[in-house]
Amino acid sequence: MNNDTPKESSDFIRDIIRDDLAAGKHDGTITRFPPEPNGYLHMGHSKSICLNFGIAAETGGRCHLRFDDTNPMKEEMEYIESIQRDVRWLGFDWGDDLYFTSDYFEQLYGWAEELITAGNAYVDDLSAEEIRAYRGTLTEPGRPSPYRDRPAEENLDLFRRMRAGEFPDGERVLRAKIDMASGNINLRDPVIYRILHADHPRTGDAWCIYPTYDFAHGQSDAIEHITHSLCTLEFEDHRPLYDWLVEHLSVPSAPRQIEFARLNLSSTVLSKRKLLRLVKEGYVNGWDDPRMPTLSGIRRRGVPPAAIRNLIDKVGLAKRDSVVDYALFEYCIREILNFDAQRRMAVLDPLKVVITNYPEGESEELEAVNSPEDPDAGTRMVPFGRELYIERGDFMEDPPKKFFRLAPGREVRLRYAYFITCNEVVKNDAGEVVELRCTYDPATKGGDAPDGRKVKATLHWVSAADAVDAEVRLYDHLFEVENPGADGDFVDDLNPNSLESRSGCKLEPSLAAFAPGEQVQFERLGYFAPDTDSTADAPIFNRIVTLRDTWARIRKQQAQR
Ligand code: ATP
Ligand code: MG
Repeated sequence: MNNDTPKESSDFIRDIIRDDLAAGKHDGTITRFPPEPNGYLHMGHSKSICLNFGIAAETGGRCHLRFDDTNPMKEEMEYIESIQRDVRWLGFDWGDDLYFTSDYFEQLYGWAEELITAGNAYVDDLSAEEIRAYRGTLTEPGRPSPYRDRPAEENLDLFRRMRAGEFPDGERVLRAKIDMASGNINLRDPVIYRILHADHPRTGDAWCIYPTYDFAHGQSDAIEHITHSLCTLEFEDHRPLYDWLVEHLSVPSAPRQIEFARLNLSSTVLSKRKLLRLVKEGYVNGWDDPRMPTLSGIRRRGVPPAAIRNLIDKVGLAKRDSVVDYALFEYCIREILNFDAQRRMAVLDPLKVVITNYPEGESEELEAVNSPEDPDAGTRMVPFGRELYIERGDFMEDPPKKFFRLAPGREVRLRYAYFITCNEVVKNDAGEVVELRCTYDPATKGGDAPDGRKVKATLHWVSAADAVDAEVRLYDHLFEVENPGADGDFVDDLNPNSLESRSGCKLEPSLAAFAPGEQVQFERLGYFAPDTDSTADAPIFNRIVTLRDTWARIRKQQAQR
């Protein structure tokens, strides 16, 4: 697959929907994104968000945001708020269509009684372990619970007493009465209500029984007249149950569930349970740590939302699980930022340079191009003076053959400025290089020599007198292996060097005006963005991604194979 060619939005789900609409099955499409508010959204969710909201937009339909809040134990308002912020940031809008499964609790309860009355559900007194043991295995059929044939009136009475709070957690459950011998374990009398004496973030103590995912999800879809209920592959085996419930209840519509492959990314974990552990056990600095694959972490790092949409577009939809190389995500970020981000100069590991033939006390402003990709981005003036900083790594006292940057006696270009020649190396008592004394050629102003002589390197630099001091945070993969947890506990695979914080970095003055949410390319170094903790007095920049394009390299290797 060539990832450079923008493809028509077409895939097996869009084909199905197009056919359904053409066949007149629906007046329009209604999809939904149904997060459980038990954590922050991560990159995996962005696939579902882009798909559901994308299809609604393409077909002139609507996409609901529905909080699947049926488990009061793990759910919090903080998550409900963060999820809305993240979906909006990704570029999607649910309009007035914000729903909560908890708003349907009364209706769902009513449908549960309806099942009981019709002889299609029963209250089971078996314990959770017993239910598991009776359920059988993939090769053995299940056995009926001794309570399976309770009369409807007794079931109804017990279920009402469950609701009234007469029993402790786990003492009884309500099960759909389907088929204990079914080849599909999900149909072996699945639990549809459980007792949980827990306060719910929205319904408080109004309920002490809660519907399971299977009972709540399809019925919520039906209530909202969802036409296509798009979910990940692990729900494929639940579809017969989804359809059974829709069929056996007096629901107002019959949505169609279609499954697609989850997004998996190499060198990271995409599971709220694991991400929660990283947060709770302090391996990272919160859900929005810029190393986290959460949308809030990625946003804080400075990744523009268009880069995520770009990735999801390139990955496409499949019916089989696969792992997407993280390098493809970085490629997608660069593809957006190469055009959108302006260029600036910053020195992360400063080495002082004194231009000995530049008049003391003088300075000037030189014109610099803001973006070679976007002429409309214009130019800016950059201060230049007798004392500058260059990158320590751009100088070697005793350079090997392939090092073309600055060295004693060598001439290089300072970007947008002049050619300089290094004449003297100043060291401290420890023998470390602390300063270079150079001369500049005033005739090379702007970066070219009138006599046509060439230099082999162009360095970035910052005027010492005007530099803004900053902290710069350099990030590497959070995990040091491609598949964290493949052999053992995933936290053992954390990369101990995933964060390198540098203080005393030198920025060109215009960088002080950048705010979180704005991206910039530090010339020759990568794409950066101010952290949310950054202030004008104490700027902090996060490295979003380096300029090195490993994805291009991987593709080249693949092409050669
Ligand atoms: P996690 O495994 O991280 O807990 P989840 O599936 O339990 O995720 P939900 O809040 O239930 O999280 O997910 C909301 C929606 O996002 C669901 O429709 C789910 O299928 C989808 N989703 C979650 N993870 C991914 C993923 N990696 N790729 C694509 N869609 C996903
Ligand atoms: Mg889930």
